[in-house]
Amino acid sequence: MNTPEFDIVIAGAGLSGLSAAHFLKKRNPDVNMLIVEKSDRPGGAIRSLKKQGFLAEWGAHGFLDNVEESRELLNDLGLTDYVQKAPLKQFKRYICKNGKLVQIPQSPPTIIKSDLLSFPEKLRVLGDLWKKPITGEQTVAQWASHRFGKAILPFADIALTGTYAGDIDELRIDAVMPGIRNLEKTYGSVFKGVIKSRKNKASRRMPSMISFEDGMEFLLKRLAADKTIQYKSSVEAVKKTEKGWVLQVNGKPIQSKRIILALPINGALKILSELLKPPQSSVREAIVNNVVLGFDNSAEIPFGFGYLAPKIENRFALGTLFSIHMFPKRAPAGFNLIEILVGGTRNPEHLTLDDDEMVKRALEDVGKLIKLPDKPVFSKVLRPSSGIPQLEKGHLQLLAYKEQIQKQYDGLHICGFGWEAIGINDMVKQAKTAANAAFKGRSADRQDPEAKPVYF
Ligand SMILES: Cc1cc2nc3c(=O)[nH]c(=O)nc-3n(C[C@H](O)[C@H](O)[C@H](O)COP(=O)(O)OP(=O)(O)OC[C@H]3O[C@@H](n4cnc5c(N)ncnc54)[C@H](O)[C@@H]3O)c2cc1C
Repeated sequence: MNTPEFDIVIAGAGLSGLSAAHFLKKRNPDVNMLIVEKSDRPGGAIRSLKKQGFLAEWGAHGFLDNVEESRELLNDLGLTDYVQKAPLKQFKRYICKNGKLVQIPQSPPTIIKSDLLSFPEKLRVLGDLWKKPITGEQTVAQWASHRFGKAILPFADIALTGTYAGDIDELRIDAVMPGIRNLEKTYGSVFKGVIKSRKNKASRRMPSMISFEDGMEFLLKRLAADKTIQYKSSVEAVKKTEKGWVLQVNGKPIQSKRIILALPINGALKILSELLKPPQSSVREAIVNNVVLGFDNSAEIPFGFGYLAPKIENRFALGTLFSIHMFPKRAPAGFNLIEILVGGTRNPEHLTLDDDEMVKRALEDVGKLIKLPDKPVFSKVLRPSSGIPQLEKGHLQLLAYKEQIQKQYDGLHICGFGWEAIGINDMVKQAKTAANAAFKGRSADRQDPEAKPVYF
């Protein structure tokens, strides 16, 4: 039997693989390309639940509309009219502080104007203006307390709980905020760096969180619609040959001139380790379960995105999304919807609870913060099988490894969950970079990390 041959094979039909395929097809509509996907559906970590009129998410709830590559993707797919927007400027966000919900500003620098910090704490935050950058690998907590003082830690904690479901005592600043760290190193202070770099920016618009009427999975289904995807097919190994690459897929070979590994970092490391030994074989992942609760209209859900609880509050839930307010039509008329996030690296033991116990504990916890009826009218626990990769100790070495292996092996291109970053916009950006490199047939140039604005 002949071995099937392609110009490009992409491993993974999650957002990264599908975006890479999209950008490749845009540059070369005739490209002979195949996407190989382990599961029986496209979308990977992005999956929406529609049940009894409620709409919830297994993973991502949305992304900010401030990244060019994602806007390009939406435009190309003709989806701009389908987008639902929740502008950050209008939507409040809360922190759980001393057992109560307290509104926080959307952007960290404005904390200084709020009454969330005492006067001496505010002065210490401004200490960033003269604190010298410290070198060497540092955790987010070490870095933030050096630059801004310890009072800022609960806010740093929720910023990273809301994105990584991770631990600021383990996540590394140079890996999770390389752009901000560059500003600090270049200008000697984060504040100075932000002000100087913003002067050059035409727009200082506060972005909106976006999703779709049918949830985030809608985007992935649209992306997958015109692609050739081989489902229930796992890439087990890749081998470089004179003609290009041979992939072992479900025990059978597929030949391709070039390959894009668009897999979560742990899956990629497993395959790549046969080519070149990585500095570490895997990274830790944070699994987050979503307790979806629907209520009648006696629930008093504050207007806004939701709240996050820092570790110091010692609560059952990491936070709660006030989904009923975020986007329209998430619940039947007259009903309410919240989504309670449980687990993460903070409380992996909570993930072992059965559904009834998890719902009970989540309801008890959140019921102390907002007024909820005793019983929900709808409940569902969503338990994603994959987690959020954590950019912890040694992550910069993993990025150097990624660069080295792509240089060493012609026609090998890598993007995906947990390398440079973890968010949707980053995935789309990295996928475009990988697609362009695969199109040109050379490894991607290293890009200077951008200083992304941080929002709670
Ligand atoms: C709980 C959670 C909440 C999140 N919330 C947000 C959010 O609100 N906003 C945001 O911007 N981002 C969020 N994210 C991150 C976002 O979901 C990811 O950035 C994105 O889904 C990653 O896409 P990916 O394609 O790189 O990886 P994945 O989505 O994991 O897709 C990888 C695909 O590869 C397949 N695969 C794996 N191994 C193989 C193999 N050997 N062979 C073939 N196929 C294989 C998998 O089946 C999967 O389909 C969240 C993630 C999680 C888990």
